[in-house]
Amino acid sequence: MYLYDLQTPVRRVRGVGPQAEKDLARLGIHTIGELLTHIPRDYEDRSKRVPFAAATGNGGRFNTTAIIDCHDFFYVRGKKTLKLVLRDESALAELSFFGRDERATAHYANKYPPGLRLDIAGTAALSYGKLQCVKFEMEPAGTHPELFSCVLPVYPLAGSLAQKSLRKIIRAAYEQGSHLEDEIPADIRGAGNLLPLSAALKAVHDPASLDEAAAGRRSLAFRELFLMQMEVARRALQRKAAVRSTRAYSPALQEKLIKALPFQLTADQKKCVGEMRADIEADHPMSRLLQGDVGSGKTLVAFLSALLFTQAGRQTAIMAPTELLARQHADNAARLLQPLGVRLAFFSGALSGRARKPALQALKAGDIDIVIGTHALFSDDVEFRDLGFVVIDEQHRFGVIQRNRLFAKGLYPDILVMSATPIPQTLALSAFGDMDVSLIKTMPEGRKPIETHLALEANARKVYEFVRVELGRGHQAYFVYPLIEENQAADLKDAQSMYHKLQNEIYPGVPAGLIHSRLGEEEKRAIMADFSSGKIRILAATSVVEVGVDVPNATCMVIEHAERFGLAALHQLRGRVGRGAQQSYAFLVYAPEYTGLAQKRLTIMKETTDGFRIAEEDLLLRGPGDLSGVRQAGLLDFRAASLPGDTQLMLDARKAANAILEKDPGLNAPRHAGLRGAGTAAGAVSGAGDAP
Ligand code: ADP
Ligand code: MG
Repeated sequence: MYLYDLQTPVRRVRGVGPQAEKDLARLGIHTIGELLTHIPRDYEDRSKRVPFAAATGNGGRFNTTAIIDCHDFFYVRGKKTLKLVLRDESALAELSFFGRDERATAHYANKYPPGLRLDIAGTAALSYGKLQCVKFEMEPAGTHPELFSCVLPVYPLAGSLAQKSLRKIIRAAYEQGSHLEDEIPADIRGAGNLLPLSAALKAVHDPASLDEAAAGRRSLAFRELFLMQMEVARRALQRKAAVRSTRAYSPALQEKLIKALPFQLTADQKKCVGEMRADIEADHPMSRLLQGDVGSGKTLVAFLSALLFTQAGRQTAIMAPTELLARQHADNAARLLQPLGVRLAFFSGALSGRARKPALQALKAGDIDIVIGTHALFSDDVEFRDLGFVVIDEQHRFGVIQRNRLFAKGLYPDILVMSATPIPQTLALSAFGDMDVSLIKTMPEGRKPIETHLALEANARKVYEFVRVELGRGHQAYFVYPLIEENQAADLKDAQSMYHKLQNEIYPGVPAGLIHSRLGEEEKRAIMADFSSGKIRILAATSVVEVGVDVPNATCMVIEHAERFGLAALHQLRGRVGRGAQQSYAFLVYAPEYTGLAQKRLTIMKETTDGFRIAEEDLLLRGPGDLSGVRQAGLLDFRAASLPGDTQLMLDARKAANAILEKDPGLNAPRHAGLRGAGTAAGAVSGAGDAP
């Protein structure tokens, strides 16, 4: 038998041709490991017989043996259509072959003669008082027991992949996989009532009962969480093992900046600054997650910590997910830090060769104290003289990867990951289990809570009138749309058309701007600068303004087709206003034909501005299987596990992993690979962009 490991490309599995390979790739399946953890979204329980008469009480599902009572023919739009009248011990049911040509109809009449006994399973519905088979699978009685006394997996599909062929492919894969070794120690499996790997795979893909399927999934989920927690724990150990001599850092520069600020630090900011100073002076590298809602003042905290390093003659790198945000950080740094004599540099992918070289040299020579940029900061040719501190803004996945890369290079700078995407506790534990967490819970004083209003599209005029009053007071407004430009296929407002309409019809005479992800970086920067300075008063945009953009004089956020945006995006967008002392407003304008889920999202937005609550609700609402937002943050690439449902399992896995490593820190414990998905693999770094 052909032996494989979990990293083997999926095309090596029997039955996978070029088309199937393409379709599988669309499902995120490239390796056999990923194929084996393609978890069914449902099961069709054919383990028990359900006669026709019981179908309606069973969600329409039946699984029975019937005899063909007679044929009947009728006409649908002039087409002769064959109907089989079936009888089992409980009732009659009808089954019609719609839409066939004459030859096919004759073929079926011949293949299914009256008197033939059939095993048949499927769904039926009552129509005109008669039970009609809607979906069905049938074979001559007794010929295919594996199809009619079993629990069939129902997989997520893509492309032209059919349920039947995917079942075959997966079956081939796990039948070939009986040699797979289980990395989970037997005693841990025993304690958790978990199946060994090959049994778990069989249970998931070919269960004898729904209970067995659930036990199988649970075992795979535990395995996935355990391997992840092993890695998290190992990383924590590695960091703690990187012992360095402690040193005292002078806070003189830090204090100078605090004195120069036109406001007081909030109590939470002070606490965070203190926590970080203790980390920085400790005998192993800092690895800290700074969480705080948009506008809570995280960036300032990061700057203050960076000043400790500047004072000590060491360098800081601050990385933002987009050029726009990096520029904004750079502008803030120029405003706050340059007066203190801090030497700043900006570094991005857009930096041309000619400008890049001197910047590289200055960094290497130590002529730069703080460099701000995009992930171009971590290109291979970028060298520092003494990199002491790395700040990563809003890019969680990147933070983890980057940290691993730096460690691999033997560099152990202090690392701060900042997040305004409030990360629910459970996720923080899973992905950042080895990081310390600082929280900024309260907003700077004087900020008024944002007023949020929901408005039906038909009432958009009223919203525009309200905004007119705010503009009259000298304030500014964002208008956000789900599309960049008009799309014939979708009946949605778009940023470009609305930009013209806002400028020419709704607010003639008020200077407006348009921004979206397809503009060049320079163009985006110029527009943001104009909006920031007040030259532009109205900004029509896509969700490109989602993260981090900071214009305190903007008091109105109008989101049209708000039903189209996820909770996380809505929260981020709303966070663009309410950043100054004035009362700010968010208007969520929605179309009448929206789903219950969208309604729930909007209700939550109206009810609370607490980012942490919104994040938890988001996770609950989306449920397993649709976590794209969180996934974008790089936190949840689980295949078998799903959070928050598997929180307890994750806590158990965490305990088990820690216990193992505590007993034997040098243990060459299982690598985190194979059955887990792309997980922590480098590469997939997501940035801010327009909503789909
Ligand atoms: P975040 O990075 O958390 O989104 P920022 O650090 O960008 O927040 O701060 C948002 C705005 O609030 C900035 O204009 C900043 O100068 C200001 N700010 C920060 N801390 C305070 C404070 N304690 N009091 C008043 N304003 C503050
Ligand atoms: Mg920020």
